[in-house]
Amino acid sequence: MRTVRTVAELREALAPARRDGATIGLVPTMGALHAGHLSLIEAARAGTDVVVVSLFVNPTQFAPDEDLDAYPRDEAGDARAAEGAGADVLFAPSVAEVYPDGFATTVRVAGVSDPLEGARRPGHFDGVATVVTKLLNMVQPDVAYFGRKDAQQLAVIRRLVADLNLPVRIEGCPTVREPDGLAMSSRNAYLAPEDRPRALALSRALEAAREAVAAGTTDAAAVAAAARVPMDELGVEPEYLAVVDPETFQPVTAVDRDVLVAVAARVGRARLIDNATIRPDGSVP
Ligand code: AMP
Repeated sequence: MRTVRTVAELREALAPARRDGATIGLVPTMGALHAGHLSLIEAARAGTDVVVVSLFVNPTQFAPDEDLDAYPRDEAGDARAAEGAGADVLFAPSVAEVYPDGFATTVRVAGVSDPLEGARRPGHFDGVATVVTKLLNMVQPDVAYFGRKDAQQLAVIRRLVADLNLPVRIEGCPTVREPDGLAMSSRNAYLAPEDRPRALALSRALEAAREAVAAGTTDAAAVAAAARVPMDELGVEPEYLAVVDPETFQPVTAVDRDVLVAVAARVGRARLIDNATIRPDGSVP
């Protein structure tokens, strides 16, 4: 695996593949790689000829009061893990390489960026949409791989790619979980040992929602109320717990088609998110 830090080096590293007509896969990450990230790299390895992993903690998607400075960073460990999972190129640019002096453009996806995470983290999805647009233009991959763990981010990116006719296929990959159900996240590192059991509130809420639908509940408010029960039991207050349309993230009133149940909560020092798509029969696609 080759590590490159500038767009010029990246283009040079990818030129032979592009000339030979090899397909290029991109896995954008902010590093602190865990098994969730590695599953995306493995999917890219299986689906494309040349795998690029980007490692960039994007400052524009953090609000001033968020964890940009504290965000876990371990480039050497990430390089070993990415190579082990099959990456060919690690693109680890500096902030100045991505946002040089005079940078003035923001990509904003209206609508799907606004509710839930967007309402809680104003400007977050503008930062995501802008950096993903830039990464797609820098790497020019055939396929880009994203986790369904960040379902609203994935919906924003699908909208962006469709609206701007970006010539890339977006693959959404399943959420990788700890054995007890906790969705893997770089931010799980913030969980103190005494907080760790309560972090299960989110995945248990999703499971309760699924069981309610499987038992015949169709009213979205009743599904949300069922999901709330394990959170209350564990003493975790959701920032939001919503039953929404999986593409627009607008609230739905009934589970009469596939819906997405999305939840966010603070557990100790960690802000956690999770989600599940639920079919009207209570199954999970
Ligand atoms: P991040 O480094 O948090 O920006 O995440 C980089 C990519 O990994 C995003 O597409 C995430 O959705 C994805 N990802 C993060 N956690 C998981 C997980 N537990 N399972 C699958 N994909 C994940």
